[in-house]
Amino acid sequence: MAITDRSNLSADRPTFVDYLECSATGERYEADVLHGLSDVGKPLLVRYDLDALSAAVTKDEVGHRPSDMWRFREFLPVRRTENIVSLGETTTPLIPITSPGGGGEVLVKDEGRLPTGSFKARGLTMAVSMAKELGVSRLAMPTNGNAGAALAAYGSRAGMETFVFCPEDTPEVNVREIALQGARVWRVNGLINHCGQIVKQGTETMGWFDVSTLKEPYRIEGKKTMGLELAEQLGWEVPDVIFYPTGGGTGLIGMWKAFAELAAVGWLGADRPRMVAVQASGCAPIVKAFEDGADHAEEWQDAHTVASGIRVPAAIGDFLILDAVRESDGFAIAVTDDEINTAQNEIAGRDGLLLSPEGAATAAAYKNAVASGQVSPDDRVVLFNCGNGLKYPMPPSDAAIDRHEPVDFQALTV
Ligand SMILES: *Cc1c(COP(=O)(O)O)cnc(C)c1O
Repeated sequence: MAITDRSNLSADRPTFVDYLECSATGERYEADVLHGLSDVGKPLLVRYDLDALSAAVTKDEVGHRPSDMWRFREFLPVRRTENIVSLGETTTPLIPITSPGGGGEVLVKDEGRLPTGSFKARGLTMAVSMAKELGVSRLAMPTNGNAGAALAAYGSRAGMETFVFCPEDTPEVNVREIALQGARVWRVNGLINHCGQIVKQGTETMGWFDVSTLKEPYRIEGKKTMGLELAEQLGWEVPDVIFYPTGGGTGLIGMWKAFAELAAVGWLGADRPRMVAVQASGCAPIVKAFEDGADHAEEWQDAHTVASGIRVPAAIGDFLILDAVRESDGFAIAVTDDEINTAQNEIAGRDGLLLSPEGAATAAAYKNAVASGQVSPDDRVVLFNCGNGLKYPMPPSDAAIDRHEPVDFQALTV
């Protein structure tokens, strides 16, 4: 069956969205109208009628549908199938690797297989589909690269105009793919939060819709499917620990929401994974807030790391990340760029799996956490590789052979 075959879903089958809720105050907002942040400037979360949902669909039914994220349609906000803007958001594999910490079952959820080479596709297929449903057609965002690429691709597919702003040192391939996929893209001499300020001004003066993560309610619903999918892949169980490379934290918050919704409909038991927020030591606002026992994170100064996707000095959902980490009995941990590069190198060479720097950060963090006793070597662990390693600069490899000279084959093996 083609991945775009949605014959299992009728054109206007109702979804189960009940209302939107301010994540800080609990205040309710009407569904089916356009929203950004709540009145107090905090993220809005989608709430579903989970009783009606559990009466309408079973996990077996979901299991028989085409293997893409839309098989979880009842848990998602798009009301009309015709509004789904899709590029084939396939189920991503769980790949066992040699435990970087010695012992233990370590699985990498390889999100690099998704359209545009990163899990940003999950969020943007949802946000663009909802923008279509709600009648918006000019979208703007700040990005460290991958989100902008996904916005460009889905926006073009939906016939929308997209405006993307990225830090000037964003990986070259990201800037070019954004342009090629039809967005207008600018490099800004600052960090992602400075790009966000430009987007904000554009929304005020140009009427753009701001699709910054967690500043509209639906990207998180797309990223939530990582949690739904992971539970399904593990036979409706959860791993002991999840290591997640945390920038804006949308995926971590989204998975935590997914597990709560699955438990509410009876598809999961009481077990929850420990959620570990992984950051780079050059940009670790969440780690600092976690260690300080704070509810919110302070903006990180002079942020720098090779893991560009997690170079986020200030996250609007900081309190939600910290809540999920603490509620789950998890922790936040920072790793250096050297540790990231070493882990990437080791796993590529030993397991044949080229991780993005952000994914490699989770492997380095796992290794350190086993060494320090924060996780047990017996734990079943899932590491998130959120982007395709091919999208990043790689170390040079310049060995060459002159075919006009005799080849010294013995020398090739040393
Ligand atoms: C965006 C991104 C992240 C961070 O994801 P959040 O859910 O926003 O924290 C991690 N890795 C890669 C490759 C990314 O593109």
